[in-house]
Amino acid sequence: MAWSARQALMLKEMGLRVDVRAEVQAVVGAQAEAQSSQAATPRSTRPEATPRPTAAPSAAAEKSAPTLVQTPVQIHAPRRVGVDAIAAMDWSELRSAIASCTACKLSQGRTHTVFGVGHPNAHWMVVGEAPGEQEDAQGEPFVGKSGQLLDNMLRALGLSRDFSQGDAQGDAQADPSKCVYIANSVKCRPPGNRNPAPDELAECEPFLIRQVALVKPKIILAMGRFAVQSLLRSSDPIGKLRGRVHQYEGVPLIVTYHPAYLLRNLEEKARAWDDLCLAAQTYAELAAVVTSS
Ligand code: SF4
Repeated sequence: MAWSARQALMLKEMGLRVDVRAEVQAVVGAQAEAQSSQAATPRSTRPEATPRPTAAPSAAAEKSAPTLVQTPVQIHAPRRVGVDAIAAMDWSELRSAIASCTACKLSQGRTHTVFGVGHPNAHWMVVGEAPGEQEDAQGEPFVGKSGQLLDNMLRALGLSRDFSQGDAQGDAQADPSKCVYIANSVKCRPPGNRNPAPDELAECEPFLIRQVALVKPKIILAMGRFAVQSLLRSSDPIGKLRGRVHQYEGVPLIVTYHPAYLLRNLEEKARAWDDLCLAAQTYAELAAVVTSS
């Protein structure tokens, strides 16, 4: 079966040869037909930016002599929202809790918290690792080159992160089977793009757990080893975990490489495409079961 012009273009953008993947196109096409009875015309909305907290001047500072120059000092005072409280939050409460969270030291260097983006009831959920410099600046996950690559990968499957949050008309038009919700394992940028520390992952985990519970995805793509550590509690390398269907709270989970890694290791793109095809096949099989029951 031949690739459609759009799919071929997307694969070209991923740097893949299309002639060796023809067998998968049938799966993707069947999934799209099974899931779509209405055309979605989503519009993109970026999440609210969360201002970086600034320290209020103390009374002592206000009384000090005018010749003194007071340097604002941001004191890390851990603020912990109880796990049970997080587990009961709605979207609005969760967004506010993350915006004001200082439970770990990553709060000290952030510009914005990076909450998440996409359809709140998307059938597909992508879980990444931690915000980088551009994500921290914009308050949205997967922006810049890795975000473009992720968008191209998703588009090749007929999926999009675009969703007009808060717009009733857009909400009604959006088809959740064609939408993704994207979240990171930690919501604040580690300084210098270092890896998130185990305690930082642990502190942020209840937020991710709640996001998954609210979205109720039909399938999850875990991108990168820290997403895998959070969701599967496994420290095995990606190469050992990919290529099979895992389960997270009863939801099929596919492990694949993070787009930032793929940009540095172009030879792994074909494996990432295999992972996406496995996810598409798994989703199509689930949809077929639901349709026939
Ligand atoms: S990374 Fe997560 S736990 Fe740490 S301060 Fe940010 S929101 Fe809170």
